[in-house]
Amino acid sequence: MTTSTLTIDLDALAGNWRALDAASDAGVETSAVVKANGYGLDAGRVARTLARAGARKFCVAVAEEAAAIRQALGPGPEIYVFSGHGRGDTDMIHDLQLTPMLNSIDQMLRHVEALPGHGFGVQLDTGMNRLGMEPAEWAALRDIALGQNIQLIMSHLACADEPEHPMNAQQLQVFNDLTQGCDIPRSLSATGGILLGPEYHFDVTRPGIGLYGGFPFSDAQPVAYLSLPVIQIRDVAPGETVGYGNTWTAARPSRIATVSAGYADGLHRIMAPRTQVYANGVPCPLVGRISMDLITIDITELSEDPDELELLNAQQTVDDLANNAGTIGYEILTALGGRYHRRYVSS
Ligand SMILES: *Cc1c(COP(=O)(O)O)cnc(C)c1O
Repeated sequence: MTTSTLTIDLDALAGNWRALDAASDAGVETSAVVKANGYGLDAGRVARTLARAGARKFCVAVAEEAAAIRQALGPGPEIYVFSGHGRGDTDMIHDLQLTPMLNSIDQMLRHVEALPGHGFGVQLDTGMNRLGMEPAEWAALRDIALGQNIQLIMSHLACADEPEHPMNAQQLQVFNDLTQGCDIPRSLSATGGILLGPEYHFDVTRPGIGLYGGFPFSDAQPVAYLSLPVIQIRDVAPGETVGYGNTWTAARPSRIATVSAGYADGLHRIMAPRTQVYANGVPCPLVGRISMDLITIDITELSEDPDELELLNAQQTVDDLANNAGTIGYEILTALGGRYHRRYVSS
């Protein structure tokens, strides 16, 4: 086989959800964020696995993403839509029984006119200035909203992966002020917020990246493993170069393996000089540029030619690749691309 294999450990995924669930009190409900196709790992598979682990609430970014989740889960589990109730969303919200998080007065009017009585949530902006009602909008709408079928009031933290950042306490204060006296379930925290402590938990938490094994949940088990088949191996003499732009020159007699995966598969070119690929635990440096479909690996140190090499494993995680590329694990995962053979394993 010459396609690379992305192996997704569903037991680790479920274990990460249970661990994040256990990080808050029993009265706090832990949802699961499955937007962006379950952070690139297949939203349907992810949602089914987490439903089996005990999740009853799921979150997506836009209503279209909910179709695969509803199909995987059937009726019952709640599906929150962060972008709210946009123009053209009404049929999906109705047919798929979604709970939109309303972000503005316009969305509120659209929702109660189009689907009177249909449950909704409200997203408040507490300082991130990205999505959600401004405090003044909320003040104008609050009594009306509380008289309708409102299910949840939420907001989102801008700096939760930096525990010492003063923005966390500031947003917490604003959220408490804005929701004072509302007898409605509240939600403030994604993965980072869960780790900030109980005053950030409220009634519902919304972890995403931690489920998939990423920072800032440092106790997470890795979920994604990437194995790349070797297509060709050659000997290169000292002074010869490898790849586009001749960026790597052999300093000694070298053995070079060409492996199937490239920047079209989410291996960003910028990660090349710092990234290793593993043969049974032995790190081998990636040399030369990353091409669209191929990378080249210096396997001179190996005693045997490998059939395949590992790019993501217990030694080199999504966060390591992110560091090598100057980005975050979220971007590595969601960029992994459609060309991999995705293999799901569970005990
Ligand atoms: C993406 C997202 C989450 C999940 O965040 P993680 O950092 O991945 O845990 C939660 N809430 C909102 C509003 C989001 O956009």
